[in-house]
Amino acid sequence: MGWLRGLVNIAYMLDDEKLKKKAQGYIEYLLSTRQDDGSFGPDGPKDSMWPDVNYEHVGYEAARINAAGILLNYYGFTKDERALDLVKNFVLEYYGKQHYKPGSYTWFNNIGQRGIRGLAYSLYSITGDIAYMDAVEPHVAYSTPESDWKTGYIHKDPKCTHGAVFGGLAAIADDYLFSGDEDNKQVIDDGLKWLDETQAQVGGNYTAHEFIATSDGRNPTNGSECCPITNHVMTLHRLFAVYGDTSYADRLEELMFNAVPAYITADAWARQYDQQANQVLCSVAKRRFDNRDDANIFGINPHYPCCNGTLGAPLPAFINQQWMKTEDNGLVALSYIPVEVNAEVGAENVKCKLTVDNEYPFRGTGMKFTVNVEKPVKFTIYLRAPKYIGDYGERTAIMLDGEMTKIEPNALYALEREWHDGDTFEMNIPMNTKFIKRTDSSVAVKRGPLYYALRIKEAYRQMKHNYEGSADWEIYPASPWNIGLFTTFRAAYASVIEEHHPIGEFPWAHQEEVLYNEKEKAFKTWREKEPVILHIRGRMIRNWGYHRIYPMSDDIPCEKDREYGEEVKVELIPYGCSALRISEFPSIE
Ligand SMILES: [Zn+2]
Repeated sequence: MGWLRGLVNIAYMLDDEKLKKKAQGYIEYLLSTRQDDGSFGPDGPKDSMWPDVNYEHVGYEAARINAAGILLNYYGFTKDERALDLVKNFVLEYYGKQHYKPGSYTWFNNIGQRGIRGLAYSLYSITGDIAYMDAVEPHVAYSTPESDWKTGYIHKDPKCTHGAVFGGLAAIADDYLFSGDEDNKQVIDDGLKWLDETQAQVGGNYTAHEFIATSDGRNPTNGSECCPITNHVMTLHRLFAVYGDTSYADRLEELMFNAVPAYITADAWARQYDQQANQVLCSVAKRRFDNRDDANIFGINPHYPCCNGTLGAPLPAFINQQWMKTEDNGLVALSYIPVEVNAEVGAENVKCKLTVDNEYPFRGTGMKFTVNVEKPVKFTIYLRAPKYIGDYGERTAIMLDGEMTKIEPNALYALEREWHDGDTFEMNIPMNTKFIKRTDSSVAVKRGPLYYALRIKEAYRQMKHNYEGSADWEIYPASPWNIGLFTTFRAAYASVIEEHHPIGEFPWAHQEEVLYNEKEKAFKTWREKEPVILHIRGRMIRNWGYHRIYPMSDDIPCEKDREYGEEVKVELIPYGCSALRISEFPSIE
């Protein structure tokens, strides 16, 4: 179902006839299965159009709820009343008259409750009818220890420690919308802090190779599955939408520009199941994960198909929600990727187009914004000043009408005025390279919202060709990776040299990545350079190598235990571009 959601969103956002036709087949199938009791979907588990049922019956309700959400998305794009009507009936009849008994499955309670409340809330938003909310109330009220996320997070003991745990924070935000409980935000922020301290990785993600780690969760060789990462992305969208707190947007950018592009090849033909912050060898072998031996390779289906369903979700959601409407009918920026926003703004709902043109997230200078409106209209554009600047006294600057305004980091700046057709303004976000301390002996390197990773030369081994551009790959390192960085603050900051290149066809490709060339129908080595490369000084660490049991890098030796080799010049590339990488480096003071 996750896969179908991605398909519908991408088909309509790109207005792609081929994809829309493909999606329509599934939509027509769902519409044709409407039952008298309000439910829909296949009769039994043998139906291949409903693959979730084949695996475990307990997934069924979650899949059905997911499908109803997809029908609402489809309705949003097409205004096909058949879809809206089916979902209305599903909520009022099937749930409202309790053909489905509240809380029948544990797994459903973990992830399904959020879904039915979301459906009811969407129907309420569309129709203004509170009956949909009333219909799902007994289902939402039913809780088990696993689904009571608030209590779980307060006691730092969520009974469900599967990667689904990251979605629990969004459930607490949703609770706030209904209950008005003011303490929910504190529970969420404490929960994030707890996850930061116990699970946070350099890519902006938390460790969950199926379950969250019970010890040593921040170790850079832990595996992080795609599904919890996408779950985490959707959660941060929800937190920002509900609370408007810019720190959630900072976190979301980190994920979207680092861990998300890293889990898939630049041509989107292959993905991992588990990614590592320090990933020096992708091969089929036993690792310290709860998954099968192939979880770390790039391919069509490493370990389990769930990730194929979810990995299409983050990007359309991020693009769709890049700008949001505010309560005063203005617009607020979540992030700054190049987009065109069409909205109705101001007291009289005047049609407005906002065009954002820049090279974000690789470069933050010269970002241009153009406002087109049907007639002059007063409304507010809220601009977000990221938290990642400010340590060196930098400030985000806005140029409007020839005047420059500097805005404080980690805040929303309100541009309130009467906008005229063709008005423009400019924004500059300075991006300096910084060292982010990870432990007493390790650092990450960050410039703007991007983390940077050591460029490691690679040898690709094709294990199996599936079809067209789909193949399964092992990747072996072909250059040393046991390198520490000089991080003595001022010297190292001054010694970073930036190299810039145009953003090409595949912004998240790295030089020498093997990609599928659609025209030549062949795999080719990518020759272009990454949009930003950092040059920095480091030193070989002779006694840092592979783990004695697992084929991955060993723990980073503390400074006093290191045997240093020669000094070297190293190149760092954006984390999201890399396949093999060191992104948590030994720091050399
Ligand atoms: Zn998965």
